[in-house]
Amino acid sequence: MAEPTTAPRDQMKEPVKSSEINPKFKYELLKEHGSEKILKCFQCGTCTSDCPVARYSDTYRPRTLIHMATLGLKDRVLKSETLWLCAACFTCTDRCPQGVEVASVIRVLRNLAVEEGCVPQVFKDQMTSVLESGYAYKIPDLRIKKRETTGLPPLPKGNAESVKKSLRGVKFLKHVEAKGETKP
Ligand code: SF4
Ligand code: SF4
Repeated sequence: MAEPTTAPRDQMKEPVKSSEINPKFKYELLKEHGSEKILKCFQCGTCTSDCPVARYSDTYRPRTLIHMATLGLKDRVLKSETLWLCAACFTCTDRCPQGVEVASVIRVLRNLAVEEGCVPQVFKDQMTSVLESGYAYKIPDLRIKKRETTGLPPLPKGNAESVKKSLRGVKFLKHVEAKGETKP
């Protein structure tokens, strides 16, 4: 499966081809912990209207992701870059009148996307940095020197080895390593 593209776009504005529809996908989701109630969605839009991310995005719509998933647009939803914009605040889950655990459905979809190797580069880069330094972002040498000159204590060393140990067996890690982007 191809990686998600970097520029967000509205996945539902693209015409749907019948060849894209995987009728078994919704049944796969029913078996996953967190997405068991996905078919109860009646597309009221409450999740989107209360979502703090959707408020600031032209493309992120949790209702649309749920709709795509129930329609069987497996590849489209797993490749969607908007899938990764959810902040996991659980507002949607609290407000859904049908009891759909929207935030958990999004987590399930992300996990499936990772299994398909469909992870945005920014997250791979972050994981690479965590594995190499113990920090999500590599701190530039210039900033470290500046701390020294201003008399600030050295930053604590990240424990990359401990992180690697904890992440062993995680599929996300496998995809980062498979690309040869880390040297664990
Ligand atoms: S709030 Fe619940 S029922 Fe309404 S669109 Fe979102 S998931 Fe579907
Ligand atoms: S959990 Fe994600 S989709 Fe739900 S309201 Fe929060 S940011 Fe929006």
